[in-house]
Amino acid sequence: MINKTPQVNSQQDNNNDRLELVINATGASIWDWQVITGELTLDKRWAEIVGYTVDELQPTQFSTWSNNLHPDDFKKAESLLAQHFNGELDFYEVETRIRHKLGHYVWLLASGTLVERDAKGKPKRMIGTHLDITERKNNEERMLVTTQLLNESQQVGHLGGWELDLKTGDLFWTDETYRIHDTSPEEFNPSVDAGVNYFLPESKEIISMALDEAINNGTGYDLELETYTTKGRQIDIRTTCTVTQEDGISVRLAGIFQDISVNKADKRKLEKSNADLAKANSALKLSAHYDSLTGLPNRILLADRIEKAVARSLSNNKLVAIALIDLDGFKAVNDSYGHNVGDELLKKVSSQLTHVLRKGDTLSRIGGDEFVAVIRDFSDPCESDAIVSRMLESVSTTLMVEGKLLKVSASIGVTFYPLDSASPDQLLRHADQAMYIAKQKGKNRRHIFDIEEDVALKHHNEKLDRVANALHNDEFLLYYQPKVDLLTHELLGVEALIRWNHPEKGVLAPALFLPAVEHDILAIEIGKWVINTALQQLQHWLSLGYDIPISVNISPLQLEHAEFVNDLKDILAQYPSLKPGRLEFEILENSALKDIKSVSKVMKDCNQLGIHFSIDDFGTGYSSLTYLKRLPAEFLKIDQSFVRDMLIDSDDKAIIQGIIELAKVFDLKVIAEGVETPQHGELLLSLGCYIAQGYGIAKPKPAQDILTWLVEWKQTPCLVDGSV
Ligand code: C2E
Ligand code: MG
Ligand code: MG
Repeated sequence: MINKTPQVNSQQDNNNDRLELVINATGASIWDWQVITGELTLDKRWAEIVGYTVDELQPTQFSTWSNNLHPDDFKKAESLLAQHFNGELDFYEVETRIRHKLGHYVWLLASGTLVERDAKGKPKRMIGTHLDITERKNNEERMLVTTQLLNESQQVGHLGGWELDLKTGDLFWTDETYRIHDTSPEEFNPSVDAGVNYFLPESKEIISMALDEAINNGTGYDLELETYTTKGRQIDIRTTCTVTQEDGISVRLAGIFQDISVNKADKRKLEKSNADLAKANSALKLSAHYDSLTGLPNRILLADRIEKAVARSLSNNKLVAIALIDLDGFKAVNDSYGHNVGDELLKKVSSQLTHVLRKGDTLSRIGGDEFVAVIRDFSDPCESDAIVSRMLESVSTTLMVEGKLLKVSASIGVTFYPLDSASPDQLLRHADQAMYIAKQKGKNRRHIFDIEEDVALKHHNEKLDRVANALHNDEFLLYYQPKVDLLTHELLGVEALIRWNHPEKGVLAPALFLPAVEHDILAIEIGKWVINTALQQLQHWLSLGYDIPISVNISPLQLEHAEFVNDLKDILAQYPSLKPGRLEFEILENSALKDIKSVSKVMKDCNQLGIHFSIDDFGTGYSSLTYLKRLPAEFLKIDQSFVRDMLIDSDDKAIIQGIIELAKVFDLKVIAEGVETPQHGELLLSLGCYIAQGYGIAKPKPAQDILTWLVEWKQTPCLVDGSV
C-alpha cells in the first residue's frame, strides 16, 4: 500500500514521495539499525512479511531480527556483516530465513550499507532493505529437486539427451550422455564428428545418413545402433532426433541418447535361447520320428504313414504293399568288422532302398537291420512286385564300405492292403511272418503273406490253446486196451491210450486232438502226463494185487527231446517200488528211423531203467534191415491196417508173414493189433503170431473196467466179433 503523505510544495517533499513510490514498487521494506545501541527500525512492510502488525513488534531491536533468524543462516549473515564492517565488502547482502508468526520461515534478501561510523570508526548506523524472496527460493528449490530427480531418472534409465545448435555448431550433452560415453564434461568436449566417429562402421554409416537427412530435410530419426564409448567399450544405444526449423531451415536438433545394452543383451539372450529351444525342439521332433542313424522315419512315423496309406487306399481304390525287409548276413558283418562298418552298411543299404522307391512311398527303419517299405497307389500286386525285386537286387549288390567290399542280401515279406484287410499293426505282423518264411525258404527272396495260411495257423493256435487248457484242467484220461497171448489166453499187458473227456463233446479219440500238438512243446507235456498217469495206474493195480504191465505211446517229439531220459528218471523216482519191465514204450517206426543213432541211445538208456520198446505201426515205415538190427526193441507191433485186411488181401497176409519171419531173424517178438474177429486170431496163430490186441479181444476202456473185463476173460477167453 502506498502511504500517501499530504502534498508539500517543496523540492524535498517531491523527492521523498518519489523515493517512497520507488520503494513501494520494489516491494522492499526499509530497515534502519543503530549498531551501537542495537535499536532497529523495521517498517510496516517487514512486519507484514513476517505476519505481524508494527505495533506487535514495538519496540524493535536488533534481537527482534536476530532471534527470529533461522539458526543455519546466522553465521553466514554475521560473517558477511563483519566483512562489510571491516571494509572487505562494499555492500552487505545476504539471503536468510526469518521465522513467520505462524512458525514457518520466509526467505528475505537483506541488503544494506553502513552509513555512519563513530569517531573511533566503529560502525554506528546501517540502512538497508528487506525483500521477500520466498517464492523465488521455493521455485529454485523445486527446480533443484526436479533437476536432481531428472538426473537420477536419466541415470537409472541410462537415458541421456543431446542438443545441437546448427547455427553455432555447439553440441550439448546431458550428464547421462557423458556417462554413457564413459566420460565427463571435464574430460571430453563433444562434437558431432567425434560423436559420430565412435559408432561401429555399419552404425556410423546409418547415423551419418540420418544426421544429413535431419539437417537437410528436417527429418527426425529413432535408431538403435552400436557404438564404442570413449574408453573403447562397445554398447548398444538408442538415439532419437527431433528437428526444429525456422523458415524451412533446420536450426536445432535435439533428442535422447539411451544405453540399451542391457535390453539388447537380454533380447539377444532371449533370441539365442529361443533359437536354441527351436533347435532342440526340432531335434526332439526329429528323434521322435526319425531314426538317428539313417534319417529314415522310425516306427512311430511309420505307423502314421501306414494309416495314411490305408486311408488313401480306401479313397482311391488302389493297393498298398507293406514290405518288411530284413537283411541276411548283417550280423556277420557286424561281428567281423565292428559296429561302425555295420552302421555304414546300414546307411548305404537304406539309401539304395530309397532310390528304388517312388515319390510318395515310405522307407522306414524299425530295428537293427529291419526296414519297412510302404508302397502306395498300384492296381495289381505285380506292379509292386517289380519294386520288391529291385529292392532285393539293390540290397544284394556288393557295396564298398570303409574300404571293404561287403555283400548282404534281404529277405522280404510282403502283404497287400486291402487284400489283407488287417489293421496297420497286423499288416506289419503279417509282413513280418512272410519275411520269416522267406528266411526259412533260403533268404535273398520275397514271400507274400498268405491269408488262408494265416487263417489256418490261427485255427491251429486256437486248437493248441484249447488242448493246453484241457491239460491244465485235468480233462485228459487214459483208456487201456488188453494185449493177450492167443495160445495161453494170458493177459500180457495193456496199452494206455489217451482220451479227452471234453466238457461239451464227450470222450474224444486222440486223432481229434493229438495231431494239433504234434510239433508243439505241448506234446512233451502231455507225454509226461501220460507216463505219470500210467505209473499211478500200475501202482494202483499192484496195490489191488494185479501185476499188469502198461505200454505207453511216446510221440516222436518227446523221444527226440534232449531231456526225455532225465524227465523219465524224475518221474520213475516217484515210484520206487516199481519192478522192471512193467512200463513199456511204443514208438512209431518212422520216428525211430529219424535219427537212428540218438534214438537207439535213448532206447538203451531206457532199457537200463527196465523199460522195453515196441516198434508201433510196423510195416508202414521203410525200415531197412540194418536199421532194425540197431534198434534195441523187444516187440514189433504189426500195423492194424495189414491185420484188418489179411483175411481178404493176400498181399497184406504176405506182409504179415514177412514181418513174422523178420522178427524171428532179429529175435524180436511180434504183436498184431487190430484183431477184430476170431478169424483174425486164428489166421495169426496159424502164421506164428500169438500175441494180439484188438476189438475182438477188448476195446480200449477206462481203467476201472479192465478188471471187470479180466474176470470175464478168464472165465471165457474167447475172441468175439468186434469189427467196426
Ligand atoms: P496206436 O498206438 O497204434 O494204438 C492203437 C489204436 O488202434 C488205438 O486207437 C486203438 O483204439 C485202435 N485199435 C485197437 N484195436 C483195434 C481194432 O481192432 N480195430 C480198430 N479199428 N482199431 C483198433 P486210438 O486209441 O484212437 O489211438 C490212435 C493212436 O493215437 C494210437 O495208435 C497212438 O499212435 C496214438 N495215441 C494214443 N494214445 C496216445 C498217447 O498217450 N500218446 C501218444 N503219443 N500217442 C497216443
Ligand atoms: Mg500204440
Ligand atoms: Mg499202432
